[in-house]
Amino acid sequence: MSEPLPRPVRTVGILGGGQLGRMLAMAGARLGLKSVIFCPDLDSPAFEVASAHVVASYDDEAALARFAAMVDVVTYEFENVPAATAAFLAARVPVRPGVRSLEVAQDRLAEKTFLAELGIATAPFRAVDDAADLAAAVAAIGYPAILKTRRLGYDGKGQVKIADPDDLDHALAAMKGAPAILEGWVPFRREISVLTARGLDGAAITFDVPENEHRQHILKFSRVPADLSPASHDAAMALGARVAAALDHVGVVAVELFLVETSEGERLVANELAPRVHNSGHWTESACLVSQFEAHMRAVAGLPLAPPVRHSDVEMENLIGDDARDPERYLAEPGASLHLYGKSEIRAGRKMGHVNRIRPRRDAV
Ligand code: AMP
Repeated sequence: MSEPLPRPVRTVGILGGGQLGRMLAMAGARLGLKSVIFCPDLDSPAFEVASAHVVASYDDEAALARFAAMVDVVTYEFENVPAATAAFLAARVPVRPGVRSLEVAQDRLAEKTFLAELGIATAPFRAVDDAADLAAAVAAIGYPAILKTRRLGYDGKGQVKIADPDDLDHALAAMKGAPAILEGWVPFRREISVLTARGLDGAAITFDVPENEHRQHILKFSRVPADLSPASHDAAMALGARVAAALDHVGVVAVELFLVETSEGERLVANELAPRVHNSGHWTESACLVSQFEAHMRAVAGLPLAPPVRHSDVEMENLIGDDARDPERYLAEPGASLHLYGKSEIRAGRKMGHVNRIRPRRDAV
């Protein structure tokens, strides 16, 4: 489907009203862009910082039509936008990133296949729909392995490690009949990610690569510079740009990678991609002149991107659940910048905010 005729973007529609939508709207405001948030949840953090919002479910076509009429372009803060929602909106207003980016990122099998076709290393994988598939997949891939639902998994949800044959029944039952994918276990040294922003004209920028530390499957810290060789850093940056180009992506795309140590040196193995701004890029807010959020808004609005200048070394700490009980303590910390998402209630495992801690670049002359 071709895009409707372009018009200057003054108002960006954002599907999803969480912290990512909130930070996109805030970054857009600095550029004079208005944001309209579409989200089914009455209590969405992004509503407070947007010009307007629509509360409706993603299959409410009357509400979607109203939303489309209010905006010049639509973007999203989460990859699980239903295909029918994206298609309905795309017939009325440009949707950026496009449908291809959504299709690939929504299905782990499509994602791994896409990466493999680009010649990017992934864990070995096989589609698993039933017990026979699982038996064939473990025979091919071996132990340990990890069984994941193809769709709708996040923060370690919908996935089970398989250490030996005794785990097979339990793992399959945990998929609850949903199509799944078996992946070989990757013995990684650390996790990193690469964030690329690509403009409407195809020009792309890639931010420096963060290393990411998870606690209970939730990102806790991102640090830049990452502890990896300059060659791996360059390879990761090039990989991000290749993924963005191959998707004909407009906006930010994040690729999560494993860094594996082999006898021949470091190797990158791609895990998954997110066609949106990403938690492992929150440090760009404080350590770069132009953040991932602004880069995304520029891209979807058809504005030029800026070189991804990083002026500081940085650590981003996610404030999860009770970490946000006493936020004042971060306010007095030298070099720290606190960002709270304005969520009404603290819950275990809920991302409440983050702190960026900057210091002068170690490699500064
Ligand atoms: P995902 O939902 O695919 O991002 O997986 C969540 C986390 O599980 C990752 O960040 C890794 O720490 C771990 N993980 C996922 N897949 C693998 C794998 N194939 N091998 C080793 N660890 C994995």
